[in-house]
Amino acid sequence: MSRGTAALIDLAALRHNFARARSAAPRSTVVAVIKANGYGHGAVPVARALDDAPALAVSVMEEAQVLREAGETRPVIVLQGPVEQEDLQTAAQQNLTLVVHAPWQVELVGGWRSAAFTVWIKLDTGMHRLGLPAARAAWAWQRLQASPHVRLAGWMTHLACADELDPEPTRAQLARFAAIVDACPAPRSIANSAGILAWPQTHTEQVRAGIMLYGASAFAHRSAQELGLRPVMTLTSRIIDVHQFAAGESVGYGATFRCPEDMPVGVVAVGYGDGYPRHAPNGTPVLVNGRRARLAGRVSMDMLSVDLRGVGPVRPGDPVVLWGDGLPCDEVARAAGTIAYELFCGVTARVPRLYRDQR
Ligand SMILES: *Cc1c(COP(=O)(O)O)cnc(C)c1O
Repeated sequence: MSRGTAALIDLAALRHNFARARSAAPRSTVVAVIKANGYGHGAVPVARALDDAPALAVSVMEEAQVLREAGETRPVIVLQGPVEQEDLQTAAQQNLTLVVHAPWQVELVGGWRSAAFTVWIKLDTGMHRLGLPAARAAWAWQRLQASPHVRLAGWMTHLACADELDPEPTRAQLARFAAIVDACPAPRSIANSAGILAWPQTHTEQVRAGIMLYGASAFAHRSAQELGLRPVMTLTSRIIDVHQFAAGESVGYGATFRCPEDMPVGVVAVGYGDGYPRHAPNGTPVLVNGRRARLAGRVSMDMLSVDLRGVGPVRPGDPVVLWGDGLPCDEVARAAGTIAYELFCGVTARVPRLYRDQR
């Protein structure tokens, strides 16, 4: 017995999007970023489907270990790097690549005296989140290069505004990066999806593709379709009841939707307990039988209601798409005041991921 709520994951679309990243940055090694359980799509199945990705990246050690336990043998980059001494042991044993972003990590890794692992040094060039300041870069390089227990891969940085049209912040970051790296030349890793798709200047030896692999846009001003990306996750459910309400009747908690006329309202078996955003307002698009309907009233934990005017006859059991095929997640995210990244990551464990693959 299934209520029909599931995240259908199209692995052929995932591979299409990876190929798109490769063709956008043809001279770069494209790392597949699969942190946060593959942006909610399932890290292990995503990694397996992307069998031609030369390397994978996750945020934290635990995510890397999940991949190794599943038999993954490719390089796995841990973007936040080690937290404690034990992580260095794990990195050496499991052949994990660590990113070091802070002086304390440089000291930790610099003090390692056992089997070697690979390290990227991350610089803060303007994002002002993680990364060594310019003043500590040469020190970090010398400290780690002197160690026979560390293989230095190169320099990494992260772009803060690559999704925006204004080129100045990205140019400024590239200039700061070049000023540091030119003194100690080594491979460079700069671009995220926005850099891959919009900033050829950021296509260095390595690029790091995240959101684009999952078929959402990295930009507010360009759709995924315009970028040649295909949706990977389709969040589906079913209608479980249909009502005819009179003008003036309200729907749901807080009575935030009031029927402007006599009208049909459907109840769908999905809610914020599944990861559908509770803050999605009235009017957020939903597909019922492949036709556009609009969210009506507050999202509940296990249900939401939709305005079925103009949708044609609807019966319990009819299919609903919350986002994905036919309804870009970016559009739902915009209506809900967020981004597709958050909606994908928020799909809860209750929702089965059903994988489809057409090779
Ligand atoms: C998440 C992440 C990426 C991928 O970013 P997208 O915008 O999803 O392409 C790249 N680099 C780092 C350091 C990240 O944390």
